[in-house]
Amino acid sequence: MATDLPSCMINGAVCGGSTIGSCNGPLGFIMKKRPNIVLINADDLGWGDLGCTGHPLHKTPHLDRLAAEGLRFTSFYQGSPVCSPSRGAMLTGCYPPRIGFDSFEGRGVLFPGQGVGLDPREETLASALKKVGYATMHVGKWHCGDQPEFLPTRHGFDHYYGLPYSNDMGRQGGRDTYPPLPLLSDEEVIEQQPDQTGLTARYVQKSIEFIRANQRRPFFLYLAHMHVHLPHYVAKRFELESKNGAYGAAVACIDWSTGVIMAELKRLGLDENTIVIFTSDNGSRCDFGKSNGHLRGTKNTCWEGGMRVPLIVRWPGKVPAGRVSDAIVTGMDLMPTLAAIAGTRPNGKRRIDGMDLSRLVLGKTRTSARDTYFYYRVSGLYGVRKGKWKRVVASNSYVGGGSFEKGLDLLFDLDADPGETTNVAGAHPRIVRKLDALLEQCRKDLGDSIAGVVGQGRRPIGWVPWPKPLTEFDANHPYYMAMYDLGDAG
Ligand code: MG
Repeated sequence: MATDLPSCMINGAVCGGSTIGSCNGPLGFIMKKRPNIVLINADDLGWGDLGCTGHPLHKTPHLDRLAAEGLRFTSFYQGSPVCSPSRGAMLTGCYPPRIGFDSFEGRGVLFPGQGVGLDPREETLASALKKVGYATMHVGKWHCGDQPEFLPTRHGFDHYYGLPYSNDMGRQGGRDTYPPLPLLSDEEVIEQQPDQTGLTARYVQKSIEFIRANQRRPFFLYLAHMHVHLPHYVAKRFELESKNGAYGAAVACIDWSTGVIMAELKRLGLDENTIVIFTSDNGSRCDFGKSNGHLRGTKNTCWEGGMRVPLIVRWPGKVPAGRVSDAIVTGMDLMPTLAAIAGTRPNGKRRIDGMDLSRLVLGKTRTSARDTYFYYRVSGLYGVRKGKWKRVVASNSYVGGGSFEKGLDLLFDLDADPGETTNVAGAHPRIVRKLDALLEQCRKDLGDSIAGVVGQGRRPIGWVPWPKPLTEFDANHPYYMAMYDLGDAG
């Protein structure tokens, strides 16, 4: 049994709805409320951006408290070093190529008005939870497709409020190639070119409204922040307090919003029965200070700094408090793990890559059932980690104009050398051969554009024939901000 939940429920007994049956109670059978789940996903926040991960300039008291009261993982990897594939992977429990989410008509992420997106036939965490009675809402950045067929409301979320893609994909200084940035409520555009400075506060407001409205039934809130993706529009109070410019202010805004949500959960008496997860979709760009900590590389690279991000899990009395774990966990594991904790499981209709690591999360073991992770960027297989060993066969550099290289022969001992500074391939030929065999197996399954291999286990991306952008620029429209003045993007 992979969880500590009662076997009657795991084995599919009639326990649907908002409670789960337990055969362990003194009265023979008691009903327990399924835990609420709050999944907070920051954008481009690096491994080292938090106070509890050692950033010298960022104060993150609320996130630090979350870590002190919960379990912080230091070897947590998202499925991709960029937004769309990482988010699709986390929600479905699949490596991006498995669901065709590695390349979007030749581009690395989704852009406004594209006719591709997350196939509605894929099961998401929200879909799985909805089936067992959860109220579900997504607030914030979606980035898994902006056509109606691909929106959160078609993927198990009862409601949606947020930007359907990145905050640099609107009309922005000097690069007005995109339609006006849409703010959506469910499937309706309710505002164009919203004031980004106050958007996080509106996200918090919507999150709290949802929590209050569903306090008597289990709920799943997926809050995906706009911050710290460029451009940085942040409320003045955070800028004034920041010791690291607008970037530090954006980090502080995420921290503040977490504090507000935690305070509300406590106020409503939901704190004890709510599992809160905090993470980021990919590593930092690192051009605002070394926010990937001691890790090498940036967003959009397969070095550790691109893919290894913070993961904090808090659930009082259930998840060990104050523990730090270096066990390997991936974004793909969150879907089956949280489903198991909620008393359900993926429907099994389509193969997934995520593993149920609920025993690890709930402190039943300190060892992860996962010891292998494959590093994908777009459709290329860049490397593999097994245990402490990381094999790198390709690399690229995102910030600074570095180039792509393939045919690399690198091996790193991540326990001794997490910064990937010393190639020890020559000293460990057997390990290299073993990891190369794993890469070859993965190529056959999920493909590798670098080697020219098409994976046999891929499924196609969702597709619609006549896509159109959610908004169109109208020169006569009195937009609140007709053009964002900051030119930063990426
Ligand atoms: Mg991102």
